[in-house]
This record gives sequence, C-alpha cells and structure tokens, in this order.
Amino acid sequence: MGSGGREHALSWQLAQSPSCRKLYAAPGNPGIETFAECVPLAADDLDGLIAFVRAHAIDFVVVGPEAPLVAGLADRLREMGIAVFGPSAAAARLEGSKGFTKDLCARAGIPTAAYVRCTSAEEAHAVLEGFATPVVIKADGLAAGKGVIIAQTRDAAATAIDDMFAGAFGGAGAEVVIEEFMTGEEASFFALSDGIHVMAFGSAQDHKRVGDGDTGPNTGGMGAYSPAPVLTARLETEVMDRIIRPTVRALAAEGTPYVGVLFAGLMLTDAGPRLIEYNCRFGDPECQVLMMRFTGDFAALLHSAATGDLASAAPPAFSHDYALTVVMAASGYPGTAEKGGVIRGIAQAEAGGVRVFHAGTARADGAIVAAGGRVLNVTATGKNVTEAQARAYAAVDRIDFATGFCRRDIGWREVAREAQ
Ligand code: AMP
Repeated sequence: MGSGGREHALSWQLAQSPSCRKLYAAPGNPGIETFAECVPLAADDLDGLIAFVRAHAIDFVVVGPEAPLVAGLADRLREMGIAVFGPSAAAARLEGSKGFTKDLCARAGIPTAAYVRCTSAEEAHAVLEGFATPVVIKADGLAAGKGVIIAQTRDAAATAIDDMFAGAFGGAGAEVVIEEFMTGEEASFFALSDGIHVMAFGSAQDHKRVGDGDTGPNTGGMGAYSPAPVLTARLETEVMDRIIRPTVRALAAEGTPYVGVLFAGLMLTDAGPRLIEYNCRFGDPECQVLMMRFTGDFAALLHSAATGDLASAAPPAFSHDYALTVVMAASGYPGTAEKGGVIRGIAQAEAGGVRVFHAGTARADGAIVAAGGRVLNVTATGKNVTEAQARAYAAVDRIDFATGFCRRDIGWREVAREAQ
C-alpha cells in the first residue's frame, strides 16, 4: 500500500520474492505498474482497501506510509485474520505521538533527550524557563515531518510555542513537547519486529535540506545512502540492546506488541547513541537504498514478522555494496511543486544496474510527467559511497527533466571521509 518511491522499492523486492504469486499495489504508481497490478485506492480509503482485500482473497498486506497505520488499518486487517506487516494503531503511537514515545523511553530507560510534555501555551512558556538554548519545540502529533522547530533563542521558542497552540500544525499541535537539544551526527537504523523478536535491518543516512551543503528548508529527504559507516557494528549492537529491544519489550509488556519495521532516528552523541524519534514504517528515501542492497526473499521475511515467526527466519541478506539514491524533485519543491513537466530517458538511466524508483510521477499522453514534489529516486550501487555517488549522478545526467532539480552532493560526508 502506498504510491511513493518507498513503495516502488518495497514492491520491486516483493515482486522478486519466490513466495509472492500475485502482487497488487494500492494505489501504486507508473513505476510499480510495470510489474504489479495497480488498483486506484487511496491510502486513506480504509473501507475501500478492506473491501478490496476481502473481494480478492488477499493473504498478506504490506503497508508503506504511516497515516493508515496510525488510523488503525493493521488492526482491521488482523481482525479479519489477514497477515499484515505494520503495527496496530496503539503501537503506531510511537510515530503518532512524540509525547507517548518520550514517556515510553522514560519508563524503559532508553537514552533520549530530556523533555517535558505541555498541554497549554501557558504551561509551555513556564517549562521553557528550565531549558537552555538552542531548544527543540515539537508538535506532538503527525505533521508530515514539519512539526519540529529548533529554536536558537528563547524568543524564537516562545513564538514556536504560540504558533503551535494557535494551530499552525492543526490538531498535531494540541500538545507540545519541549526537548533538550542534542548534538552529534544523525543516522537512521531499522529493525524488524514480530511483537516479541527483533532483527536488525540495516542503517542509512539521509539529507533533509533542499540545497547543496545542507542549506535551505527541510524536505521529506533529498537523498540517502546505505549502510551508514558511522554506525559501526559496535554502535549497532548498542542501539539494539539499549534502544530497540527495550522498546519492543515495553510495548509487548503493555499489551500493545509492535509488528513491523521500527525506524529509529538516532543522534550519535559523545555519550553514545540517543533516540531522536521513532517512525513506524520505512523511511523514504532510506527504504530505496535498503531495498537496493537486499538479496533475500523479502516477502517471506516480512511475512514471518507479520505472523510472529521472526525467530525462525534467516537473518536478512544484504549485498556488501553501498547504495546511494538521488531524489529528483519538481521545481518549487518543498513549496508548491510544478506539475506536468515531461520526463524522458529513464530507461537509458537504468543501464548498468541503476534503478530509477518512481515517487511522484503520472502517465499523460503516453509520457511520464511530474505529479508531485519528489518525482524520481535515481539509485545506484558501488564498492564505496564515492563510486555509488558517481554512478547515481551519471544516471541523473541521462534523464531529461527540464523542470526538475536535484542536490549534487548526496553522500558528501562519506565521500569526504573516503577521500582521507
Ligand atoms: P524528528 O521529526 O523528531 O526526527 O525531528 C526532525 C529533525 O529535528 C531531526 O532529524 C533532527 O535533525 C532535529 N531534532 C529533533 N529533535 C532534536 C533534538 N532533541 N536535538 C537536536 N536535534 C533534534
């Protein structure tokens, strides 16, 4: 389920699984429809999706985006006896409510930033006094990745608090979390869970800012690479032991077991890895680089997580190569993106093992056109990040997308380290 680059990558792996006989995508996209049957059902049309699953005797559902999970899609499918990869609404609160996650971290002793939850502007202004600057102000609920303000000054923090309680992020800002600012390098870590057992599923680093040199406004992500070498084997073990396992144990003990992928946003501080936030689904575009490296039976692995059988599944097999993806976006993004720009050369770009995942595209008069902010994810592999980057940009340069743009420095941290 879903229609972005993440879902193109997920369904590309699912379609290759020996255990997958027939694949439907709802609603899918022009990239997905080359190997799966796309059905025009939106991700928020829960009733339509349930009816489709029933009518077509679907036996396994993989959910891409967070919104239908937070809205309870996985619960409804499980009630019907259908295996689903994705958490219940109760467990998806890990992403749906930042305050819920912070309280869980406090109960389970998981390392994260100090915080206070506030339900009124008055309370938040009083609480702010106890924090040094910079300070982080967060809307509690889902805000499409925009509800986090890093305030450099007390005045900026006070303004952010007032804006959130005045409804700048709608209902998501009815509660606000004030957090200590952490410093360090950020990395993303993924783990699969069947409710009890957990399995590490790789690392990545992404680039959130729209411009080269990490400048300009935040976006959904302009590129990513995997693995993230900063997350060494020793740090991964520490993250599994101190963050992932205690989270899964706490949710199970509280009667809301977590089934699906846990995506931990980490800050690698001088005092060790600390949790910034959880997401209850794969990252986009982090998923694209993970899928590029995955070499096993993906459907079988996810099915074992969905059916409480992860302990008997083989550990995930990943190629030793690095993968890097460059997001090509439509001009105007992350503001109003220009729709309808014609794209040519995707097939030529895919020569030599490169894959172009479709994110916001549509078909018009036989051509592929831009239909969203982030449009294509040009994804390549290499023996290191430098080589993967060179191959990805060589492919980008074969794509003719006059109204599109991309960053030219995806992977810069690692490319600089590899040059040393
Ligand atoms: P989130 O949506 O919680 O991941 O926050 C978005 C971004 O804000 C993160 O990727 C970090 O760059 C930054 N951020 C969030 N919380 C903190 C924090 N406590 N300290 C420093 N940076 C933060």
